[in-house]
Amino acid sequence: MRELHVYSIPLTTRFRGIDVREGLLLRGEAGWGEFSPFLEYDDETCLPWLAAAREAADLGWPAPQRTRIPVNVTVPACDPERARQIVLASNGCRTAKVKVAEPGQSVGDDQARLEAVREVLGPDGLIRIDANGGWSADDAVLRIPLLDRASGGLEYVEQPCAAVEDLALVRRRVGVPIAADESIRRAEDPYRVRDLEAADIAVLKVQPLGGVRACLRIAEDIGLPVVVSSALETSVGIAAGVALAAALPELDHACGLATVQLLASDVVAESLLPIDGYLAVGPPVVEVLKAAAGPDRTAHWQARFASVSALGRDLGEDQSS
Ligand SMILES: [Mg+2]
Repeated sequence: MRELHVYSIPLTTRFRGIDVREGLLLRGEAGWGEFSPFLEYDDETCLPWLAAAREAADLGWPAPQRTRIPVNVTVPACDPERARQIVLASNGCRTAKVKVAEPGQSVGDDQARLEAVREVLGPDGLIRIDANGGWSADDAVLRIPLLDRASGGLEYVEQPCAAVEDLALVRRRVGVPIAADESIRRAEDPYRVRDLEAADIAVLKVQPLGGVRACLRIAEDIGLPVVVSSALETSVGIAAGVALAAALPELDHACGLATVQLLASDVVAESLLPIDGYLAVGPPVVEVLKAAAGPDRTAHWQARFASVSALGRDLGEDQSS
């Protein structure tokens, strides 16, 4: 029987409609792996998440090509003063990802936020924006040049529209590079982004795509620069994202892995937080775990883990246990 640890941790800010992040960690020869699919996902959707956890626990990761990973600070759709404070408090991040296209806000709000971020970052910092699919193609074509100007030059725009076809359309009509995030949720999605020429950059996440090695294969197949991002994991899951970023043959952009501070606590004593804008590359986590969930949630996650594992066995995806 494997050693398992179910965690439950409040978020510091409501995110993706949740206030508490939960998941199950499993221990293998190589260390701990994280299995934390969102609660609404069915068992089949959870299979790649389980594969990623097993990889970390049983195999560890491919050899790193670098010792540290540049990461971005994330600025929510807040007022300019708050945006300034967040960038100043980012432990030296030289890239900022600024949320835009928030419902109820104007393009003027986005412009003011971007001007504030540029002021703090200085001329050599990089600014990317993330619309989370909030614009129509026409809105995106109209607004991206305005925000490009307000920011003093954008690195790229992440997911300006929801539909991948609209990303392709917008990409042909604006001069700023486009990154696909929400358009990549399952292993086949990156190929569709590539085939439609919908993006210049692919945002890859280890758990939904089935592990570090699976992501490396995808990155090689699609031939696009990759930004590794988190699925709002504890330091155990973030370590897998760092391992992917470390193993990529090329890494041209800062990664979205500085998200542990969105959790009110962590499962390890030494959290994976940026120092001077970088996360250190290391092996899977082996030390003692904290933030244990109560008995109800522990039982829920153990049942979920058993159910997804059984489905994996039925589908012949599990050779290990
Ligand atoms: Mg995004």
